[in-house]
Amino acid sequence: MKNLLTQSTIAKPLEWTGIGLHSGRPVHMRLLPAGAQSGIRFVRTDLSGRPEIACKVENVTHTQMATTLGVGKASVSTVEHLMCALFAAGIDNLRIEIDAPEVPISDGSSIEFFNAVREIGVERQLKPRQAYRLLQAVRVTSGESVAVAEPGDGFSVEATVEFPHPVIGRQSFSYVAGQTSFESFLSARTFGFLKEVEALKRMGLAQGGSLDNAVVLDDQSVLNPGGLRFSDEFARHKVLDAIGDLALAGHSILAKVSLHRSGHELHRQLLREILANSELVEMGQSQAVSVRAPLFKKARRVAVS
Ligand SMILES: [Zn+2]
Repeated sequence: MKNLLTQSTIAKPLEWTGIGLHSGRPVHMRLLPAGAQSGIRFVRTDLSGRPEIACKVENVTHTQMATTLGVGKASVSTVEHLMCALFAAGIDNLRIEIDAPEVPISDGSSIEFFNAVREIGVERQLKPRQAYRLLQAVRVTSGESVAVAEPGDGFSVEATVEFPHPVIGRQSFSYVAGQTSFESFLSARTFGFLKEVEALKRMGLAQGGSLDNAVVLDDQSVLNPGGLRFSDEFARHKVLDAIGDLALAGHSILAKVSLHRSGHELHRQLLREILANSELVEMGQSQAVSVRAPLFKKARRVAVS
């Protein structure tokens, strides 16, 4: 448990090239070690002045389809899958140089980012890690979508998705820090419906979208030749998205989060409520320290509720 108490960065620079979901063009990223207390930030190397964008909820500018961060005219979209991978790897401080306005889509999940960081290694830093400890329950709603956070000694996220589709229906997945293995949800892919994907492409969006980086469904079935990675891959991806969005707190969170039919906008609103109703504590000084699972240790699987 000792590792949970101090901050970390990556041991060495990590290069990453992939395609942007919307542009369909190559995107190059360099992940660089960063000092303690500096947080995670993007640097748009293709823009004059190389503007920096801190990965903080106050910099969220758009939440349609994906979470976009921006400062001034500089923005980076689809940050949530990378943020989830960095959360799982226990990275607190990182400089991400990127030459395009969107993070590469990878395989539509977080697993390739996570594996790359795991391979390059994590460096422990001396500064203590901090956490927002939620003091009272908060709740945000939008139509039938509900997001709730309750005070707790650890961090957990339960998500329920509901789509009137024969392959999806109603399904739930829970992540409990220190208990649920990261492998059980980091490889769950983003998903979309063929009708919507075609409409997006006509609008000039999703140019890089393919069966290689998303689960695509028609009215009846999954179109990907390999099928699903999990029968409840949709709920698992929702947990992945939520953890990536909540990582924009900038620190760990001690709360029990429950989501029903949520999306990026509800995650943003919930996080703002959490931050407004929390105290910042040093990990280890709080009652519980298990915001994150022990780094890279195989965690015990828990029953999926
Ligand atoms: Zn996603």
